[in-house]
Amino acid sequence: MNHADSIRIGSALEQTGYTFTEQVDNADLIILNTCSVRQRAEDSAQGKLGSLGPLKKKNKDLVVAVTGCMVPPQEEGKRPLYKRFPMVDLFFDTLDPQSLIEILPEPGCAPEPEQALSVGGTGLTIQSKIGVTAFVSVIHGCNYTCSYCIVPLRRGKEKSRTIDEIVTEIKGYVKRGVREVTLLGQTIDAYGHDLPGRPDLADLFYAVNQIEGLWRIRFLTSHPKMMSYKMIKSVADLPKVCEYFNLPVQAGDNAILKAMKRPYTVEFYEKLAATVRETVPGSALSTDIIVGFPGETDEQFQHTYELLERIRFNEVHVAAYSPRPGTLANTYEDNVPLEVKRERLQAVERLQEGIARSYSQEFLGKDVEVLVETREKGKWKGRSRTNKLVFFDNPTGTEYDGLDWTGKLVDVTIETVGPWSLVGRVAGTPAVRKGRLLPVFNAEADTACEVDLPLSIANK
Ligand code: SAH
Ligand code: SF4
Repeated sequence: MNHADSIRIGSALEQTGYTFTEQVDNADLIILNTCSVRQRAEDSAQGKLGSLGPLKKKNKDLVVAVTGCMVPPQEEGKRPLYKRFPMVDLFFDTLDPQSLIEILPEPGCAPEPEQALSVGGTGLTIQSKIGVTAFVSVIHGCNYTCSYCIVPLRRGKEKSRTIDEIVTEIKGYVKRGVREVTLLGQTIDAYGHDLPGRPDLADLFYAVNQIEGLWRIRFLTSHPKMMSYKMIKSVADLPKVCEYFNLPVQAGDNAILKAMKRPYTVEFYEKLAATVRETVPGSALSTDIIVGFPGETDEQFQHTYELLERIRFNEVHVAAYSPRPGTLANTYEDNVPLEVKRERLQAVERLQEGIARSYSQEFLGKDVEVLVETREKGKWKGRSRTNKLVFFDNPTGTEYDGLDWTGKLVDVTIETVGPWSLVGRVAGTPAVRKGRLLPVFNAEADTACEVDLPLSIANK
C-alpha cells in the first residue's frame, strides 16, 4: 500500500515539474513513506531519518518530508514528531499532500527540470519507471479495531474510491505498459459500502476486467467477515481476476481470536476457506498469522499450528506480536517471552516450507502461465496466476532466442522446483485460459499492438 501511495505522490510531483533521481545525494526533496505496523518497521524508518541528517547539512535547501503510518492524522499528534526529528521539514498525511505542495517552490517560480525528487518506501526505493505490474489503492483506512493493530489509528475510517476513478487510473497505467494490477485495501472486500449505490468488490472486478490490454487483476487484503459468495464467484467467473486469496486468519484459537477482536471463529474461517476452494478450482489461499499474542499458551499456539496443517495454505506470512502504542492490546501484558515467540515463528515457517514444497511438486512437468516481470541473475522472472515465482532461461537455439520477454504472457513447462519458486523452459505458446485469447502487446507503445513474438505464436 505504501508503494502504491509513493507512486501516487511521486506522479503528482512529477506533474509539477519534479523528476526522480536514483541518487539520494542529488535530491532536492526526499519523502520517506513509513510503516509502523510493527516496531521493527518504525525502527527502520527512524534509522533512515538519522542518516538524512548529514545530507541536510550538505544541502541547505534540501526538503525532507515524512508521510505514511508513522504520521498521526491529527495536528497535535504530529507536534512531538517535529521535536524528535528536527531534520524533518514536514510530516504530512498520505492522502492529503496539500501541505507538502505548499512548502515547495511557489507556482510561478516553476522548478527547474533537473530539480530532483526522491520518493520511496521505508527503504528509500526509487521507482521512476512503471513496470509490468502496478498497485492501486481502492479503499483507504479500516473500520475494524483489531486489538493489536495500529492501522485504524493512523489511517482512519474506510474510504472507497469510485469505480470510474480507479478504471481511469488503470487505463493510464495500461497505456504505459502495465499488464497486471493489484487492487489494494486493508479490507478490500469492504470496498464500495460507503459509495452511492453501494457497489462491491465484484462490481469493481467486472469493471476492471473490461479494460483492454490489461491481463491480470490481483487483490489484497480480504477480511474473512466481509468476503461474500458473490465476490468469490466473480473470481471464478472473470478471466482476468487471478485465483489467489489473501485471507488473514491471524490465529487458530477462538479465545485468542476474541482477544484480538477478530470477529469470527476458527470454524467460520474453515468453512469460508472450503467455499473458496470449492468455488474457485485451482485457487491459492494465503494467510497472515501473529504468534505470541499476549497470553497465548502453548496449547493455544498448537491450535494455530493444527489449523495450518488442516488448511494447508499456499502461503503464510507470520509475525511475532509487537506491541503498538495506542492499541488495546498494548494495555495487556506482553508476556510471551521473545524466545518463545521466536520458536513459534520458526515452527510455523518450518511447517509452511514443507507444505509449500509439496505444492510446488504438483507443478512438475506441467505448463504454467507466467507474466514475465523482469530479468534476474541471467533468467527471466515472472509469476503464475497463483503468485508462484517462476524462472526460465532464454530459449537459446530456438526461434525465441534473444526475445525480450518483459510484459509477455508465456507458458512455461516446469522442470525443477523449490518451496518458493519454480524453474522451467518456454513451452512455446501464449496462454489461452478460460476461453480467452490474449494478443501480445508492446509494453513501450501507447496503444496495444501485436509485436515481437513470432507470428506463429501471436496468432495461436
Ligand atoms: N488488514 C489486514 C492486515 C493488516 S496489517 C488484516 O486484517 O489482516 C498486516 C499484517 O501485519 C497483519 O495481517 C498482521 O498479521 C500483522 N500485524 C499487524 N499488527 C501487528 C502487531 N502489532 N504485531 C505483529 N504483527 C502485526
Ligand atoms: Fe488492522 Fe484489523 Fe483493520 Fe486489518 S482489519 S487493518 S488487522 S484493524
